[in-house]
Amino acid sequence: MSDTISFLEIFPWNHHLETGNKKIDEQHKMLVALLNRLAHRLISDNEIELKMAFSELADYANQHFIDEEKIFEEYLLDTSLLNSHKKVHSSFFASVAKLQEEAKDEPFSTAVEKIVFFLLKWLINHIIHSDKHLVLIIEYMKAGKAIAEAKVKADENVNNLERTLLDALLSMYHEISSRTIVLMKEIEARKKAEKLLDQANKELKILITTDVLTGLFNRRHLEDIFQRRMRKAIRDKVTLVFFMIDIDFFKSINDTYGHLVGDDALKKLGDCLKKYCRRPDDLAFRIGGEEFCILTSNQTEEDAVKFAEKIRVAVAEMKVANISSSMSEYMTISIGVVNKIPKAEDNMDSFFQLADKRLYMAKKLGRNRVVYSD
Ligand code: GH3
Ligand code: MG
Ligand code: MG
Repeated sequence: MSDTISFLEIFPWNHHLETGNKKIDEQHKMLVALLNRLAHRLISDNEIELKMAFSELADYANQHFIDEEKIFEEYLLDTSLLNSHKKVHSSFFASVAKLQEEAKDEPFSTAVEKIVFFLLKWLINHIIHSDKHLVLIIEYMKAGKAIAEAKVKADENVNNLERTLLDALLSMYHEISSRTIVLMKEIEARKKAEKLLDQANKELKILITTDVLTGLFNRRHLEDIFQRRMRKAIRDKVTLVFFMIDIDFFKSINDTYGHLVGDDALKKLGDCLKKYCRRPDDLAFRIGGEEFCILTSNQTEEDAVKFAEKIRVAVAEMKVANISSSMSEYMTISIGVVNKIPKAEDNMDSFFQLADKRLYMAKKLGRNRVVYSD
């Protein structure tokens, strides 16, 4: 955190701002550090922390003015030089109060933002034009010059002070612009990382909703989607159509040709279901080993049965070998169909149970068939 604060300074300190008086310089550095911290608090959106940082800075500024005036008083007591410096100090708090008053209807952070930029300008200007000038005068006085001569000598440095101001601003500009370049690079890198993360999230979403072997949706996705589809059917007063599909004598495909051929048969059934689920509403799932289902809506009983029959026939016509099946030499399926306008008390279980019961009947009646009533 402190690294971030020192990197994200709005006011990078530089040696051009030093007055040459150790105590004053230390306090100025501390003021700048507190100002940077306050600016940093502006981004956190925590009003309590912001208020604390603000009052810490105000208290420190107040104490600094007192300490600094004491240092100058030793040489400049009751001089117009010191009196006007004191006036500038006290006008500082009046200016801050005025800014606060002007922004009283805006969020506290807006007022602080204005104060931060006021302070930034004020400090640079005050340090270089006033503090540095007074320190220079007392340095000449320490070297034995009388006040009038010390002032003349310090005034001769006014051009130097302008130069110092420019140098100070240029070094701050240099510091801030090079940090801006680093930040720009980081923003670019973050954008790239976000894009990759976005892509990874999309892939993950596909992964957790998809059955790896067949590429159909998986049971987890069915559980997610069933409730939504059911509520929509209730709202629209249309039927919810649910097919429970099971391969007949699938075990014998595995036993006769091996597990890999069994897997391949599952994939072929998956492809066939995908092919027939053409409308955006039609969804096909693999919900277990050799159990599949289809969820769709808004069909007449006749259409739902026709749809199931079409799939049953298509599977048989794929002619996937199942020589050991006791009823056909090819892979077949049985389907239990439920097609009803759901009631409030219905849920996935009630549809499942009914479809399962009909599927069981289809098996009992000889397999390779569609059962749609009890
Ligand atoms: P029925 O007509 O009564 O449905 O008979 P069935 O043989 O299809 O049903 P059963 O429940 O006896 O056997 C299902 C078989 O499906 C047993 C299991 O090993 C096999 N199975 C389940 N998942 C997979 C899979 O991912 N790959 C393969 N190859 N086989 C699977
Ligand atoms: Mg000062
Ligand atoms: Mg089976």
